[in-house]
Amino acid sequence: MPTTPPPGRWHDVARATGLLAPDGSVAQTIFAEMTALAVRSGAINLGQGFPDVDGPGYVKEAAKAAIDAGRNQYAPGDGVPELRRAVADHQRRHYGLDVDPDTEVLVTTGATEALTASILALAGPGDEVITLEPFYDSHAAAVAMSGATHVPVPLTTDDLRLDADALRAAVSPRTRMIVVNTPHNPTGTVLTRAELEQVAAVAREADAIVLTDEVYEHLVFDDAAHVPLATLPGMADRTLTVSSSGKTFSLTGWKVGWVHGPAHLVTAVRTVKQFLSYSSGAPFQPAIAAALADDETPRALAASLASRRDLLCDGLAAAGFDVVVPQGTYFVIADGARLGFDDGHDLCYRLPELAGVVAVPVSAFCRAGSATSDALRSRVRFTFVKREDVLRDAVGRLARLAR
Ligand SMILES: *Cc1c(COP(=O)(O)O)cnc(C)c1O
Repeated sequence: MPTTPPPGRWHDVARATGLLAPDGSVAQTIFAEMTALAVRSGAINLGQGFPDVDGPGYVKEAAKAAIDAGRNQYAPGDGVPELRRAVADHQRRHYGLDVDPDTEVLVTTGATEALTASILALAGPGDEVITLEPFYDSHAAAVAMSGATHVPVPLTTDDLRLDADALRAAVSPRTRMIVVNTPHNPTGTVLTRAELEQVAAVAREADAIVLTDEVYEHLVFDDAAHVPLATLPGMADRTLTVSSSGKTFSLTGWKVGWVHGPAHLVTAVRTVKQFLSYSSGAPFQPAIAAALADDETPRALAASLASRRDLLCDGLAAAGFDVVVPQGTYFVIADGARLGFDDGHDLCYRLPELAGVVAVPVSAFCRAGSATSDALRSRVRFTFVKREDVLRDAVGRLARLAR
């Protein structure tokens, strides 16, 4: 049997995500590779970002009750009415956004489907889609599937923030969409209102649609505040806002997400979504509708994550890494250069043996060979969404590097 697949769009996806091997075969993602390495070596896996404690029991009970109550056939393609209403209520309560649950909300199979359906619906060959770089890998994959051209705009190298001049310089008459992710994975950067105003100004001048990935909206620390782009003047009409219950409620395996925006844009996304999955996990939707009324669970998660962030950041600094302390998400980027590691990819392969811990290189979130990938070559990403005892163990192990 041949080892390389026949020609197809998979090729563009593999290339866009750095997975096309020189011999034409498809490589494993670095996340899968590092997770396998953690299992083989017994190292603590701070590479892949999923919580090791499940979300609230009452939400799990609500899903079980929905199964027992017979909510096991196709849900409406748009999503069950109580979840669409809960999303609209959530956006009003937290951000003052006025969202019509009947025409302006679409429930999706995780944020991933919302993002992919939005990009497929509204960008195509000849269009350019801007993302910040580093970027979440599914953004690049979806742009590749759409046939549009991906234009990555580097964050500043020192403090990993928006470079407004670089964003402005990246715009062309072909710019169709600007994808923004705040709080940002992998950097943990939470874009300020001033930074988002700069994005908004560029989007208005370019007459571009903005797609915002806000899956970490509740996971912000200190005095940082999450500002949805759709709340900025004039932006609600051109913004698709994506979020999900996975990160907020520590239920990443449920894959209940949503997108909201003006009805004409949501109609376009719905048109595509209905032929990707038609409808999404019926019994999970009423459970997430109940969860979305609960502000305490995400608040407690953010508070506990802030202290776990401090624990890991202090430990990384003590071990000799330079860290940019994140204000959101559950990731921190650490620079191994001062420890003598110029290449984060190599460091990640050696870290299990050197320190019994697994991380992922930031280059996995950059276009292969890009200037950003080069500038961030010595950086690696660690997650702190693990139990405190696990993080203490990891910090103790990392201390070996300092000796
Ligand atoms: C985890 C993640 C997603 C995917 O969310 P799902 O709801 O699991 O599909 C999307 N964007 C970012 C930035 C993420 O970190």
